[in-house]
Amino acid sequence: MLKALKFGGTSMADAAQYRKIRDIVRSDPSRRIVVVSAAGKRFSDDNKITDLLYLCFAHMKYGVEYDSIFQTIRSRYLEIRDELGLSTDLESDFDRLKEKMETGISSEELVSRGEYFSARLMADFLGFDFIDASRWLYFHYDGTVDQERSYPALRELVTDRGAVIPGFYGVMPDGKIRTLSRGGSDITGALAAAALDADVYENWTDVSGILMADPRIVENPKTIDRATYSELRQLSYSGAQVLHEMTVFPVREKGIPLNIRNTNDPEHPGTMISEEFSELREPGRFITGIAGKKDYSIVTISKKGMAGAVGTLRAIVECFEQNTIPIVYTPTGIDVISLVVPTEKLTPHLYSLTDDLRTRIHPDRIKVTDNIAIVAAVGRKMAFRAGTSGKIFAALGEKGINIRMISQGPDELNILVGVDEKDYATTIRVLYDAFVK
Ligand code: ASP
Repeated sequence: MLKALKFGGTSMADAAQYRKIRDIVRSDPSRRIVVVSAAGKRFSDDNKITDLLYLCFAHMKYGVEYDSIFQTIRSRYLEIRDELGLSTDLESDFDRLKEKMETGISSEELVSRGEYFSARLMADFLGFDFIDASRWLYFHYDGTVDQERSYPALRELVTDRGAVIPGFYGVMPDGKIRTLSRGGSDITGALAAAALDADVYENWTDVSGILMADPRIVENPKTIDRATYSELRQLSYSGAQVLHEMTVFPVREKGIPLNIRNTNDPEHPGTMISEEFSELREPGRFITGIAGKKDYSIVTISKKGMAGAVGTLRAIVECFEQNTIPIVYTPTGIDVISLVVPTEKLTPHLYSLTDDLRTRIHPDRIKVTDNIAIVAAVGRKMAFRAGTSGKIFAALGEKGINIRMISQGPDELNILVGVDEKDYATTIRVLYDAFVK
């Protein structure tokens, strides 16, 4: 059994957090691969080391004195080391870094040093090997990760002692350091888990998993205990702030489950995400989560006889394509189709779009409704339960909310309702109360 763990910035913020991590790692001998972020915020007004490194580079670039920022970064790490009683020689590393900064360093190499120092310290603290990301995480020249080269390279380096790996960066074919996108340590963790065929990828952060609804809208929402990767995708597409697509891709591809956990509440099981669960028909929470987004427009096109005609749908979609307007959802009726699109993408091309539609399909009517919010109820168990849409209609109707659009995904994994933006928060609360409470 092998578990790959990733600890985010707040989990790496100070010596007390390092101790929590050591307890977590030691409590389970299969936890042998640890990927770390740079030190994050200790309190809400604190600075993230990565942000300070970016700032440092900006100062360098404009020839402004940066020593005080550099010293702040250096002392954060030396403090952690001293408080943990470690003897890691960070001073020479910082001296070398300073020299490199004076002679010329790329922004990506400089900002990657936060993760580098975190990993050096954590490796010492855990008694694990330090495996630099520059020794295995290879990019192609186009900036995508070269999995074929990276995976075997990591497998070669890992021993039974366990390893700590810095997140967020890797190396280009020419040897230059390159960073992933912000928050990219999540991706490094997933890549390491996939490379080593880990049994689970544990992503440790400062929340106990994914919440069933936005806590700014629903008071104390429950945690999602289990979700499938498809549900996660639906939730994030519908507006939930969950792990980025790119993050889950390497583990999903290998069928490795992802467990989101809280470093500050290690007993909490968090959210488990897997390709599928076997207990689908069993009772339990019927909806997995509720998410939503505002700023949509609905373009409704009606034309008598459209339903049976050949090629009209293609012509409509081509008009949107020509005007570079992405289509988010397409609920249809008989002789009428609605296309839900982001308002900001529609507005600049609205006249050209309606012109094109008129010329190509001669519709009876085109109607555009702005200020629409789309709320999605996502749940793999919806497929087995009758009457869901009815329940949604009834619950929203009772609160006087006018449903502008309703659509069920063909995979029966979600039900979408389009409402006026003013009803957005109420809709989420009503759905949460109806299905979760
Ligand atoms: N430290 C990097 C950032 O803040 C990467 C990470 O923490 O995942 O974006």
